[in-house]
Amino acid sequence: MKEFNVIEDFFKAKSIQRKDVIIGIGDDGAVTRIPQGQALVTTTDTLLSGVHFLADTPAHAIAQKAMAVNLSDLAAMGAEPAWISLSLSLPTVDVNWLQAFSNGLQEHAEYYNVQLIGGDTVQGPLAITITAQGFVPFDQALTRSKAKPGDSVYVTGSLGDAGLGLHIAQKKCVVNNQFHQEFLLNRLNYPTPRLLVGTSLRRIASACIDISDGLVSDIKHILNASQCGATIHVDKLPMSQALIESVSSSEAIDYALSAGDDYELLFTVSEEQKGQLETTLANANVHATYIGQLNGNAGKLDLRQADKPFEYNTKGYEHF
Ligand code: ADP
Ligand code: MG
Repeated sequence: MKEFNVIEDFFKAKSIQRKDVIIGIGDDGAVTRIPQGQALVTTTDTLLSGVHFLADTPAHAIAQKAMAVNLSDLAAMGAEPAWISLSLSLPTVDVNWLQAFSNGLQEHAEYYNVQLIGGDTVQGPLAITITAQGFVPFDQALTRSKAKPGDSVYVTGSLGDAGLGLHIAQKKCVVNNQFHQEFLLNRLNYPTPRLLVGTSLRRIASACIDISDGLVSDIKHILNASQCGATIHVDKLPMSQALIESVSSSEAIDYALSAGDDYELLFTVSEEQKGQLETTLANANVHATYIGQLNGNAGKLDLRQADKPFEYNTKGYEHF
């Protein structure tokens, strides 16, 4: 099958149609319209087989994860997603694989109202690169650099699930409870981009980041960019029932602090904005957990357990 047929049959035919797409798949470039008063946010992430997902991961999950990790970056910027481009490197044209992959992509495209507007298809080792674009009102993008000492630190959802899910998938660890096992594997293979939280935090959060490499790694990006330090209480880290009941409490804390792939949002809020935060989260029906406070010790992360220093050695996932 030639490249043209792959694109026509698996991607173009299934694509949703947004009104702001003037020219989509099929020309040399896509042409799109940006709403007045909005800025364009662009982000790219690559998933490599054997690095970002296990080689035996179902194609449906790979597609949805590739999309979710990009939408998670848009969420962390406070942006609303609009379009994606897909660069696909495939070892062979496997029709069943492509069918499952394009179904996964299409389901997410419909759910998040995101249109696939182009891409590239090449032969090579399995790799998926998605570029996602979305909108945020001018001056309202959430960044890493505007947190201040005294701000409170929050995270969405629960931490550490995907890390334990990976160890289950790698058969490094056994979880006997079937419901827990399924939940943890789903957290690894089907992360949820926190888009509603992201857009709700515009004008409320002082800084925001998505947790892809682990809490300890990712909070440091905010601490360095904002020249702040943080005190984080490990007893306050939000953990799922599945994680708590599957490993010891010290292992659970380790997963929550250092495992990657959760795609929750970590954000900071000033004292003045805390009331607004509560109202906004309640209106959006989303939950975030307070885990600590920023201070002036630039770049320093102070982990505490029962108000005593918490010894921590492991690092988040590092690619190099
Ligand atoms: P060109 O040689 O001009 O880059 P291609 O043959 O690579 O053209 O692509 C033809 C059209 O199909 C373009 O609009 C391109 O954006 C789109 N396209 C190619 N690969 C993909 C893909 N994997 N997913 C979505 N669109 C794709
Ligand atoms: Mg091309």
